[in-house]
Amino acid sequence: MVAFIDVHRYSPFKGSMNVDERMIEMNTLPVVVVGGGPIGLAAAAQLRERGLTPQVFERGPVAGAAISEWNHVRLFSSWAELIDPAARRLLDATGWVAPDDDAYPTGQDWTSNYLQPLAAALGDIVQLGTEVIGVARRGRRRQHRGPHHRAGCHRRLRHMDHPQSARW
Ligand SMILES: Cc1cc2nc3c(=O)[nH]c(=O)nc-3n(C[C@H](O)[C@H](O)[C@H](O)COP(=O)(O)OP(=O)(O)OC[C@H]3O[C@@H](n4cnc5c(N)ncnc54)[C@H](O)[C@@H]3O)c2cc1C
Repeated sequence: MVAFIDVHRYSPFKGSMNVDERMIEMNTLPVVVVGGGPIGLAAAAQLRERGLTPQVFERGPVAGAAISEWNHVRLFSSWAELIDPAARRLLDATGWVAPDDDAYPTGQDWTSNYLQPLAAALGDIVQLGTEVIGVARRGRRRQHRGPHHRAGCHRRLRHMDHPQSARW
């Protein structure tokens, strides 16, 4: 996960804002999560509970794309250990049928019974088929104020349907 904040602006060595003022200002900055695996999606669910709207970029065609490579393998963790609490609360509100906490899923179960419903519940903040191919701190690289400019950061994306269309 990458949280984009203006590091220079919020440096402890600079500025006159106190901690509360800085937290308020930081809440206005965008948060980007790189990867729609179990950790990235759980982070997104946690962020949403805190009133933030992150953007999740997943390079694969589905959430949990990396796990899809070992679909047939059974995990050594039970469902109770694999479901993030904030993700569970979000899913429960959608009418999701929770798996048995004591059962041990396969990779396929993990993606189809949890990660993919979770990505759907998170909605359009999860952008599939989009690879983050670069991140630069503001002021450290050439800046383009195109549609993907955000305060304090730049990210470079490549969509799977347009592999040549990398952009800042
Ligand atoms: C065979 C096997 C069995 C396992 N069993 C267990 C178990 O029983 N219990 C357990 O806790 N853990 C288990 N693990 C480990 C578990 O799979 C990982 O800890 C977990 O998947 C990590 O989640 P993640 O979201 O950090 O990373 P990942 O699952 O790797 O997800 C990262 C996602 O980010 C995407 N991505 C990567 N780079 C980019 C980019 N530049 N731009 C956009 N998207 C990107 C990938 O496509 C991927 O979907 C197992 C792993 C394996 C291989």
